[in-house]
Amino acid sequence: MAPSFNITVLIPVFNEEDNIILITLAVDNVLREIYNCSYEILFVDDGSTDNTLPEIKKLVKKKGNVSYLSFSRNFGKDEALLAGFQNISLNIDAVITIDADLQHPPELITDLIKHWQSGYDVVYTYRKENNQDSSFLSKVSSKLYYWIISKLADVQLENGLSDFKLIDKKIVSVIKNLKEEAPFFRGLFKWVGYNQIGIPYKADRRINGESKYPAKVLIRLALHSITSFSTKPLTIAIYIGFFTAFISVLYIPYVLYSLYKGYAISGWSSTIATVAFFGGVQLIVLGILGLYLGKIFIQTKNRPRYIINESKLSASNSNMDQNEKNKAMDIFR
Ligand code: UDP
Ligand code: MG
Repeated sequence: MAPSFNITVLIPVFNEEDNIILITLAVDNVLREIYNCSYEILFVDDGSTDNTLPEIKKLVKKKGNVSYLSFSRNFGKDEALLAGFQNISLNIDAVITIDADLQHPPELITDLIKHWQSGYDVVYTYRKENNQDSSFLSKVSSKLYYWIISKLADVQLENGLSDFKLIDKKIVSVIKNLKEEAPFFRGLFKWVGYNQIGIPYKADRRINGESKYPAKVLIRLALHSITSFSTKPLTIAIYIGFFTAFISVLYIPYVLYSLYKGYAISGWSSTIATVAFFGGVQLIVLGILGLYLGKIFIQTKNRPRYIINESKLSASNSNMDQNEKNKAMDIFR
């Protein structure tokens, strides 16, 4: 009996040499159980410098349903996901995105598929409180991040929203045509709309290797995701401007009064304090403007968002249409 649906599991990997086989086995284990499902695993090697790519190649030789793309350098997880989506054929019925480090429990794939079959177009997951693993600081900063983004961005992102999700093929075609520089997928999949449902999961500990997101990178990503999804910081910048201008107007009577009383010179420290304060405010506002300006600058350069160095895509995971495939085959005839 022909399979009733096709799924591609898209896995971005950056220096995950010890996890390639583990995640493949885990995904295999779950999907093999699912009646009438044919599936492929597509690794996007995001410029790994360890043995990730050789590990993938070994696997490709052994297993017919594994394929890969490999970047010329590290471009970032969202770029890896984008490349994956852009190189998946529309013959598939759904895509599942999952991390390689087994922090996204593969058993949950069964639930993702069940919800999708009951009519949802995007089945996303969000991380429940993970007490043993994360430090107090990381918990607080994660809460703060989701709070800020939910206040500023025009899409609602749940606390702990993850990149582990199932996406129906109609949304994959939307993503393929995305013109956005540096996409932020966690937000984008909310932004597309359609029928969505979220299911909670408990993140396990990372099996091998280290997290690729030290605090410095997280701050950059947080600023990027906020400025990708909202222009509210620009409005807030204007309010800050109004507010400080208002305060400084209040300050003028005090200056005049001091002048009148003859102790104008004594105001030195308050002057310095004021100058420093307004200087700081101006820099913040300029910084916010700069972030948006930078985005426009990058977008106008229109560079490719990633560079594929090598790839081995299965016939169904190739972007070529049937005509192009026939032409390519002619070479061998
Ligand atoms: N990843 C990637 N490119 C990067 C950083 C990470 O493809 O620049 C992949 C990584 O290999 C993993 C997933 O994205 O499969 C999540 O990364 P990580 O586990 O480091 O993130 P965390 O779980 O710490 O948020
Ligand atoms: Mg992880």
